[in-house]
Amino acid sequence: MLVLVLNAGSSSLKYQLMNPETAEVKATGLCERIGIDGKLVHEANDEKIKLDVTMPTHKEAIEIVIETLTQGEGKVIDSIEEIQAIGHRVVHGGEYFNSSVIVNDDVISKLKKLIPLAPLHNPANIMGMEIAQQILPGKPNVAVFDTAFHQTMPASSYMYAVPYEDYKNHGVRKYGFHGTSHYYVSNEAKKMLNKEDSKVIVCHLGNGSSVCAVRDGKSIDTSMGLTPLEGLIMGTRSGDIDAGVLSYLMEKKDMSAQETVNYLNKKSGLLGVSGISSDLREIIEACENGDERAKTTIDMKCNRIKKYICSYAGMLEGVDAVCFTAGIGENADLIREKVCSGLEFMGIEIDEDKNKVRSDENREINSDNSKTKIYVIPTNEEYVIANDTYKLTKA
Ligand code: ADP
Repeated sequence: MLVLVLNAGSSSLKYQLMNPETAEVKATGLCERIGIDGKLVHEANDEKIKLDVTMPTHKEAIEIVIETLTQGEGKVIDSIEEIQAIGHRVVHGGEYFNSSVIVNDDVISKLKKLIPLAPLHNPANIMGMEIAQQILPGKPNVAVFDTAFHQTMPASSYMYAVPYEDYKNHGVRKYGFHGTSHYYVSNEAKKMLNKEDSKVIVCHLGNGSSVCAVRDGKSIDTSMGLTPLEGLIMGTRSGDIDAGVLSYLMEKKDMSAQETVNYLNKKSGLLGVSGISSDLREIIEACENGDERAKTTIDMKCNRIKKYICSYAGMLEGVDAVCFTAGIGENADLIREKVCSGLEFMGIEIDEDKNKVRSDENREINSDNSKTKIYVIPTNEEYVIANDTYKLTKA
């Protein structure tokens, strides 16, 4: 039996058809420009198919995905009956959800209540579920939350030092994101360490980036907050910043509160500081060509990660493994090296040659003397979604 994993964004839809028992991926793809014109990239049977198809709404997008999976060149199944269930990536589960759940009216109504906390993401996720229910009637849908893994954080980690009634009345607290990735990677690390009482730090470094401190398999702190803006310096997000900068920028640049938050989310981070790109590869290239601002950008990015590793090692009272994952974490040996350099005093010692090896496999890149393991673990959020969906819906 197969699970269809859907990740609905405001104008996009990522999908993957997977066998959760074997982790075999049958097909993967992306619908983009929904509501504008419509583009589909579908990968299956070792082929990549690109199509321009009109997709006025997500409904047509999901219909096209089903059609492409069952007919023509990209066909991987004979009928939709081979799909057991649909797993949805949901960005915000607030305090309602600490694990994945089967979607029903109550779940949808709770997700609607959370829209103010994730105004861009939750409406798209809800829409994905409602349309999947229409197009694949009778098939169970499961919601898998980016926030759920972090619900184990203690109050001392998730509270902000603002008046307590703002937490009680408005839900102002740290929720954290990338939870499926942090769960997957820390669980793989736990297996590699072969240790139940493990202390693991996961650095998920993609376009969006976050760090998570995981003790005995449970998240105890993470760098993203009420929204994904807090923490590390990301592709276009500033990460941690003096809140005073907001009102100062609003005044100096005559921007509204919303415009300022947008500025910090979309125009800042690697893009804003380097003035080159949000893509780290281009910044590394500029740095190699002697661009000073690019060098500063990379140093800033690495220092922020280092700061979190050290503070989380303190909170965990030691660290068995530091793990790197996602686009930058898995591929950028320069970043891993700069982040780990100077941390030998904490028992973190990278092996330069092992660090340079490129591979899709889980791997250890610390020196033989290193007290702390350093792992590169390719993340697999889709597998977690497919597996949770399978476990919750199998007869
Ligand atoms: P997303 O958060 O969009 O899923 P990814 O996990 O795909 O992001 O990560 C995207 C980031 O990974 C980009 O900044 C890209 O430059 C970076 N990246 C990918 N490959 C490399 C590489 N070989 N060297 C440096 N950075 C890389």
